[in-house]
Amino acid sequence: MKNRQLSPATRLAQALHYLDEDTGAIIPAIHPSATYVRANDYSERKPYIYRRDSNQTTDHAEAIIADLEGAADTMLFASGMSAASAVMDALPARAHVLAPDVMYHGVLQQFQKLHALGRLDVTYYSTGDLTAMQAAMRKGQTALVWVESPNNPDWDVTDIAAAAKIAHDAGARLFTDCTGTPPCCTRALELGADISFHSATKYLNGHSDVTAGALSVRETGDWWDEVFNIRKLQGTVLQSFDAFLLIRGMRTLILRVERATQNALTFAAHFEGHPLVERVLYPGLPSHPGHEIAKRQTGGMYGGMMSIITCGTEQTAIDTALACEVFYPATSLGGVESLIEHRKTVSGEGFKVHPNLLRISIGIEDVDDLIVDLEQALTRAAGG
Ligand SMILES: *Cc1c(COP(=O)(O)O)cnc(C)c1O
Repeated sequence: MKNRQLSPATRLAQALHYLDEDTGAIIPAIHPSATYVRANDYSERKPYIYRRDSNQTTDHAEAIIADLEGAADTMLFASGMSAASAVMDALPARAHVLAPDVMYHGVLQQFQKLHALGRLDVTYYSTGDLTAMQAAMRKGQTALVWVESPNNPDWDVTDIAAAAKIAHDAGARLFTDCTGTPPCCTRALELGADISFHSATKYLNGHSDVTAGALSVRETGDWWDEVFNIRKLQGTVLQSFDAFLLIRGMRTLILRVERATQNALTFAAHFEGHPLVERVLYPGLPSHPGHEIAKRQTGGMYGGMMSIITCGTEQTAIDTALACEVFYPATSLGGVESLIEHRKTVSGEGFKVHPNLLRISIGIEDVDDLIVDLEQALTRAAGG
């Protein structure tokens, strides 16, 4: 066994072969202590001093994600948004940033706000369009290129390796948000990203009972120390109870994503060309414009995220979501239970989204139950 590199499936299932040497427990304890005593000579007893810095349970969850990402280091935050915001806060004043014009609405809102305040200088490129990205770069000036792939809610795909080359040629760092395809599908750091972000609220935890955000990096350094400092001073470290749940959730990550992918492939193929559906947006479908890149970047593990654009009016789309009996009409994604949402209602005005778009997170249920549910909902919403 000594020379054998264990596979991610094994390492995840065993939470890195955790074992408490004192008790023999194979499940980690939750360490809730907010403070830690000093050493006999009154020096700090590293590594733990105060809960806002870090804690043992969260460190364990970070080690699991770092292992999965092939990262030099990982930090966990209380939400995806607090992790994303820490990266923005670590940028110098008025730094130039490139961001996609269609992306997760919370991150976009944050960029719009910081740009309006003069804190950052944000240029938007057409999502997934590398020519537009290249044209918007300012050599030697652009600090960060933000990529979301697959992007929310259209599921366009960006070629991460090509984006990394564009960013690096101009001296910028590449940030990727691949929340829709967790690191067992897309290994963004290996493709060339400098910072890999995941909303761990979604697939990594997978049970809709934690909010968490993960940042993983290829290289540590002063910049990364600054991100740690921001987390510490803003108090946005992931708390130990949530870290415990996240560790438990991640043990089944690969099983869950495999099942969600199988379900999604069957589901998407069923509704493509359906008389009440105008379009199905899913990178796993061969007809999807990003299919070949997605296949390469995920190894065929496309995940369970898709959108459908219904025929009829915007109200038909809303009525379809409300008529579902198995799907929950709720926001979020990547959980074991399937969700459907009318995206325009949720993101509000000012975001580019088709009025008839329903975002669907396919879970691990029986796929026939999901297909029958959406069939009846579409028929009822269409007045049938
Ligand atoms: C959910 C999500 C976020 C934000 O994460 P939270 O955990 O909700 O704060 C960012 N990006 C994407 C793509 C997401 O789906």
